[in-house]
Amino acid sequence: MSGREPLLLAIESSCDETGVALVVGGRRILAQAVASQIALHAPAGGIVPELAARAHLRWIVPALAEVLEVAGVTIPEVDGIAVTAGPGLAGSLLVGIAFAKTLAWAHGLPLVGVNHLEGHLYAAWLLDPDEPERPGPPFPLVALVASGGHTFLVEMRDHLAYRLLGETVDDAAGEAFDKAGRLLGLGYPGGPAIAAAATGALRHDAVLPRAWMGDSYDFSFSGLKTALRRQVEGELATAGRPGNEAGGRLDTSRVSELAWGFQEAVVDVLAAKTLRAADETGAAAVVLGGGVASNQALRARIAAGVAARGLPLFVPRPGLCTDNAAMIGAAGWHRFVAGERATSDLAARPAWPLIRPAGAPATRRPPRRGTAARAYETALAAERDAAGNATGDPIASPTRGGAR
Ligand code: ADP
Ligand code: MG
Repeated sequence: MSGREPLLLAIESSCDETGVALVVGGRRILAQAVASQIALHAPAGGIVPELAARAHLRWIVPALAEVLEVAGVTIPEVDGIAVTAGPGLAGSLLVGIAFAKTLAWAHGLPLVGVNHLEGHLYAAWLLDPDEPERPGPPFPLVALVASGGHTFLVEMRDHLAYRLLGETVDDAAGEAFDKAGRLLGLGYPGGPAIAAAATGALRHDAVLPRAWMGDSYDFSFSGLKTALRRQVEGELATAGRPGNEAGGRLDTSRVSELAWGFQEAVVDVLAAKTLRAADETGAAAVVLGGGVASNQALRARIAAGVAARGLPLFVPRPGLCTDNAAMIGAAGWHRFVAGERATSDLAARPAWPLIRPAGAPATRRPPRRGTAARAYETALAAERDAAGNATGDPIASPTRGGAR
């Protein structure tokens, strides 16, 4: 369609939220719906993949109907469809992908497969329906994505161009919050519950360990979780109340203090590494994304750090930090205008990495400093050189489009 920016229908079903959104020009949300499965999975204390896939099937059509009605748009008015192709739960991804392919085929619309992690990064560009226009984040920038399944820091020198600075070597930050929530008897999901409990803490002297991982930008949260478990068990034993995972038998006031101590430890490391990355890369802005970015203590700590440096901070509102389809419409737009198109064999990619340097093995952990890191940089540079003629895997080989 000419005379206006492309309107994308976006679909997200990688985990436990069924999301559908209409996004104009990669930024302006016309309408969006998110069917959350939190209540469905709460009794199990975590996501049950089979239940998640079934719930996506149940809610994806109503979510689409709602979005079209709110926006007053019909599918033929849409310019393309963006769908999360990974990473995520295979069964959940398949629901969204099959749905998107069917719509694309039935209406003759182009389809683009989007990396969910790229979506979390691009949430920072979104504008709500009634939000005034404002510029998007300037480049170069440093972005922290911290969610239930992922925690990593990247440098972006341009759209779709990522350099991985570091990532978690074990638990994701959100996963650590969820486990700590269980240990403290606060229920699921742990992140919001710990944040709420922490605000009630009267004493602020519970100190839990921070894993600094040397001078790398990597993260580790499993030791912190173990330290919290030992602390809870030790205090229960001292009180003559030996406990199991249901640490709820600690006094409410003590739970609040430990929740504060845990949150402080996570926030300290996430904020310090993000700010150091901004300094060391000469960033012009800092971007946050992922469910943990809705944590007020983290937002406040990073906001203070960037303000002291005179840098702008871009953090989506909490509802756009957690999984949603609008962010897939934002990231997908950049892929769409660059000419990327998925075919009918678009498959779910449960472990799709955001960046896989050309020639580098698909390891879970990034190389550390030293020889391996230099080889990694060389591979990335070669990938950038090759970007002009790159086709195939859009994320492994970012292509640059001239239509922006
Ligand atoms: P995923 O994409 O991996 O499903 P999301 O981006 O949807 O993750 O984020 C969900 C995660 O964010 C959960 O682990 C949850 O505990 C965490 N989370 C949500 N709100 C907060 C908060 N206020 N503080 C800390 N963690 C939070
Ligand atoms: Mg997510």
